[in-house]
Amino acid sequence: MSVNELIEKLNQCPTDVSILAALLQTEGEECEQLAVAAMDCMTREVGVEVYLRGLVEMSNVCIHNCYYCGIRRDADVARYTVTEQQIIDATKECSNLGYGSMVLQSGELPTDGYVDFVCRVVERMKKETRSDVQPDGVGITLSLGVLSKPQYQRLFDAGAHRFLLRIESSNEALFKKIHPPSQKLEERYVAIAHLAEIGFQTGTGVMIGLPTQTIQMLANDIVMFQQLDIDMVGMGPFLPSANTPMANWPIATPLERLQLGLNMIAVTRLACRDINIASTTALEALHPNGRNLGLAYGANVAMPNFSPFDKRSSYKLYDNKPVLNENIDAIAIIEKTGRPVARYQKGDPLHYFSRQGLKATD
Ligand code: SAH
Repeated sequence: MSVNELIEKLNQCPTDVSILAALLQTEGEECEQLAVAAMDCMTREVGVEVYLRGLVEMSNVCIHNCYYCGIRRDADVARYTVTEQQIIDATKECSNLGYGSMVLQSGELPTDGYVDFVCRVVERMKKETRSDVQPDGVGITLSLGVLSKPQYQRLFDAGAHRFLLRIESSNEALFKKIHPPSQKLEERYVAIAHLAEIGFQTGTGVMIGLPTQTIQMLANDIVMFQQLDIDMVGMGPFLPSANTPMANWPIATPLERLQLGLNMIAVTRLACRDINIASTTALEALHPNGRNLGLAYGANVAMPNFSPFDKRSSYKLYDNKPVLNENIDAIAIIEKTGRPVARYQKGDPLHYFSRQGLKATD
C-alpha cells in the first residue's frame, strides 16, 4: 500500500497499530511523501509557525540510575546546579530575543528543597519578563521527572504551566530492561495523570531505536500518546552513552535511527494532529541539520540551548552531544527552512484547549 493510501486508512482509524507500524516503516523515496503529508496535517491543525523555547539544563543531580542515561546516579560526572541568577539571566536573554517560552530541565531530585528552589525561580521568571508584548511573562515548561502531586501543584501555582515527563517506552518489558527495578512505568502514568488533573499542559515522549525495540512497540507508543490525550510530545533517537550499562548494547545504525526518529515525528503528527511536537537535540547528534529535519517532518517546536556554557558538557545525556558550543542565532537557522518563527508568543499546544472545548488565547 502507498503512503497516501495508508494515511487515508489512518484517518479512518487513528489508533490502528498495524497502519501506524506500516507508516513508521516508510523508507527511501516514500519518506518524502510521509514528510509532505505530515507538514500538510501540521499546517491545517496548528499552522506553520515554529515556537521557541529557550532550554536551561538546570541540574544534573539525579537519584535514579537509568541504564541509558549519561547523568545517572552512578555516572562519573561533575555534578552541578545552576544558580537562580543564571536562570534569570538566560530567561531575560531569551525574552529579549523574542522567545515566548522557556524549558527548565534537570535530573530527578524529588525533595521539597529542590521544588522550593524551582518555585522561586519560576515566580521570578514570570515576574521579570512581563512586558507589553507578553503581559503575563514567558511561558514555562518543566521537565523534572516524577514528583508528588502536591509538589506538582506547588510548581503550577508558582506559574509553570507545562510539564514534560517522558514515559521512555510504553512497552512494559522494554521499560524494565532499560531501568533498574526501582523505576516503575506505572509511576510515570500516575504522574502524568496528576499533571493533567492539576491543569498542566502535559507532554510525554519516548526514545526511538532502543535495543530490542520493535516497530510495533513504537506504534503502540503513539497509541499511548492518543490514549493519554497528551498535549505535547518530545522524543528523539536513542544515543549510547559511554558511561552507562547500555553503552555497547546492539542498536540500529545512526542513519536508521535518524530516519526512524523522523518517521516517528511524522506519524505522531498524523495520528495526534493538534499537539505540539518538539524537534529535539538528539536528532542533531545524528545529523548536522537534524533539528531542521525534524521540523520538516511535522515538528513545530524548537528548543535552543541556553544553559551556561561551562555546564553543558556535564549535562551529557549521551555521547557526541552537539550543542556544547552552541551560541548561535537559532532563529536564523530555523528560518533557513522557510518556516516563520513565532516571537513573543507562548506557543501553547492547541490540543490543550481543544480537549477542554476552549479556544487558545495567543
Ligand atoms: N529526568 C527528567 C529529564 C531529564 S533527561 C525526566 O525524567 O523527565 C531528559 C530525557 O533525555 C529523558 O527523558 C530521556 O528520554 C532522554 N535521554 C536520556 N538518556 C538518553 C540517551 N542515552 N539517548 C537519548 N536520549 C536520552
